Formats: sequence, structure tokens, C-alpha cells
Amino acid sequence: MLSPGDVVSYLEMCAPFGVNLQRGMNYRIRDGESLILMSQRSGAPYQDRVEQDGRIIIYEGHDLPRTSSGPNPKTVDQPEFQPNGKPTQNGLFAEAARKFKDGIAAPERVRVFEKIRNGIWAYNGVFELIDSWREKSSSRNVFKFKLQLVGDVPFSGGSRSVYLEHDRVIPTHIKLEVWKRDKGCCVRCGSSKNLHFDHIIPYSLGGSSKATENIQLLCAKHNLEKHDAIQ
Ligand SMILES: [Zn+2]
Repeated sequence: MLSPGDVVSYLEMCAPFGVNLQRGMNYRIRDGESLILMSQRSGAPYQDRVEQDGRIIIYEGHDLPRTSSGPNPKTVDQPEFQPNGKPTQNGLFAEAARKFKDGIAAPERVRVFEKIRNGIWAYNGVFELIDSWREKSSSRNVFKFKLQLVGDVPFSGGSRSVYLEHDRVIPTHIKLEVWKRDKGCCVRCGSSKNLHFDHIIPYSLGGSSKATENIQLLCAKHNLEKHDAIQ
């Protein structure tokens, strides 16, 4: 069971979905679950950003796969449809956002994972897709998707249903600094397994998500012990 802030390997990230996640955008891959993989690391291929104190993610759509004969995908508009007329992942997510804005569907729920480094991902939680649009980026049009944090929703089949009021996405540069400072290990016991980005002072008690001094790595055991002590 994952909670926002948990650190997972690639395999752990894929496990709840029963598939290998080969691409960044995954619309309703299993049991109606949608998820996206984001990255704000330097050199990331797309411009994703976090706004409003970690409640909003603006996610960039994805390019056509690179082919030997076609144009460089970075030089052409991001497509809504494949050559066979079926929607691309951009098209599927954009259609879901349109339906929500037209008032004919509930917002699509999307789980968001963020790349910390190769093979290491952070779970950012469940977001609702509330808007999408196209905008100019250099000389072409790209898709943008606006996602709003819902909090902690159990994976399908899961039994726990907890809404964590204090959840906020920790900005990427903070995650990266904390990871480096704590050397990818629990600060209490040195374990490198089942790690979690922990707010030392919880967000609900005024602790910041934006100061490295307030974020630390804890293993699952020490994270639980701390939560039990607070609650
Ligand atoms: Zn520990």
C-alpha cells in the first residue's frame, strides 16, 4: 500500500498495475486506473511543474515515438490522434478533461509518480484531472494537463481509505536535496528499503513542504512509529 511521499523502485511502482510501465502517460490501464510519470529533473524530456504549494501539477503531454523515417518528434505538434485515427494518450486524457469541464463526467483520477533518479520513484498521490489545453512551446504546440491533489486513495482492492489533510507534494528540488543529504537511507536506522519523504513537522501543524530542514527520509517502520506517536 503506497502513501504520498513513499519512495519505490521501478518494479514496486509497476506491481499494483500488473504491467511494465513503458511510457509516461497511462490512461485506464488496469481496473480503470490512470497514472502518469513525471520528472522535473534537469534534462527531463518534458516540462512538468508543481504549483500552489504542491496542490497542482501542470503536466506536459507526450510526443510521438521517434521513428527512423519520420520527423524529430520534438519539432512537430504533439498529436491528439494516431495515424489510424485512434486517440493518443494525449487525446485520451484531453477527452477526459473536456468531459469534466462540460459537466458530463467526474474528473479522471490519476496517480502520479515522480522520477527521483534512475530506478527510484516517489509516489505523489492521487490527483484529479481538471483541465487541459494546448500551448506554444518553442515553435510547436504541446498539450498541458492540470491535475489537482486529492490525497490518499487506496489502490483497487486495497482496504485502507484515509484522506490525509496534510498531504502536499514536496517540490522536486527539495526531494533531490533531501535524498542526497540523507544518502538514500532512513535517518533513524540507515535502511535503504521502503523509504518515505517525511515532514518532520507535519503540514497540518504548520510544517513546510518547501524547506529541506523539514523533510527527512524515514523507512516504513520509523515512519509508522512517528505517526503513532503524533496521533
Ligand atoms: Zn528506519
